[in-house]
Amino acid sequence: AAGARAALARARDAGAAVLAGGGDALDAVEAAVRVLENDPHFNAGRGAAFTRDGANELDAAIMDGATRAAGSVAGLTRIRNPVTLARRVMTDSPHVLLSGAGAEAFAATQGAETVDPAWFAIPERRRQLDELLARGGGAFDVDMKYGTVGAVARDVHGHLAAATSTGGVTGKRWGRIGDSPLIGAGTFADDRACAVSCTGSGEQFIRVGVAHEIAARIRLAGEDAATAADAALAEVRALGGTGGVIVVTPAGEALWRFTTPGMYRARATSAGLREVALYGEGEGGGEA
Ligand code: ASP
Repeated sequence: AAGARAALARARDAGAAVLAGGGDALDAVEAAVRVLENDPHFNAGRGAAFTRDGANELDAAIMDGATRAAGSVAGLTRIRNPVTLARRVMTDSPHVLLSGAGAEAFAATQGAETVDPAWFAIPERRRQLDELLARGGGAFDVDMKYGTVGAVARDVHGHLAAATSTGGVTGKRWGRIGDSPLIGAGTFADDRACAVSCTGSGEQFIRVGVAHEIAARIRLAGEDAATAADAALAEVRALGGTGGVIVVTPAGEALWRFTTPGMYRARATSAGLREVALYGEGEGGGEA
């Protein structure tokens, strides 16, 4: 876990440096997520989960809380940093969500950095697929400990942003897309409420609309962020799913909530807080 801890600290510091320099929340979340996409310890970019066919198919999203502009991508196989392409979908296309070959054709018009698909494949993830297949294959497997990556931020202008990136779940097939690139499910930002990024059993997160539900509870029901997050995670649990969320509010409160044994996470504030935590330890959130 030392490598994951170090990468989390690097990602946190990359985002914090943007914010400390007066930069935008959007730039901060993109910078943080890119560090984790490039690091093999996480299920995003390099180190992504394998599909049942032995490939890596990447999903990502980004959202601007100030304007509720959003961009996302699904089923990428050659784009080094899916979160950056998601941002280009937001800024340079008239659409919100692009998938597969079409998304990669758009990427070519943007000069997005491509890699050989082998770049994403690491032996540990391959082994997880092999074990799943050896067990008889089941449907698929959510490995919560090394999951999806995400970032949320509030900048000096008071604007919020969220980003999420993932390889999805091991053994997925038929072009399966999870919650991460779906705006309102795994990713959402609205300056009136909060920014949210989710990890967990994507199918249930989609059915609950977790990220939007948390924002709606804060905005419409007046709940605090922890109460709203716990309520949404309870809805997921009622459908048979587990997972976690990171949330930041317009007041700059940054918290996490999860219903799994652990969720790798890190946090920084302008007051000088610098935190990395893996399981139950640390302040700022907890098990719902
Ligand atoms: N939520 C992701 C998905 O279903 C998986 C994860 O968070 O590990 O695609």
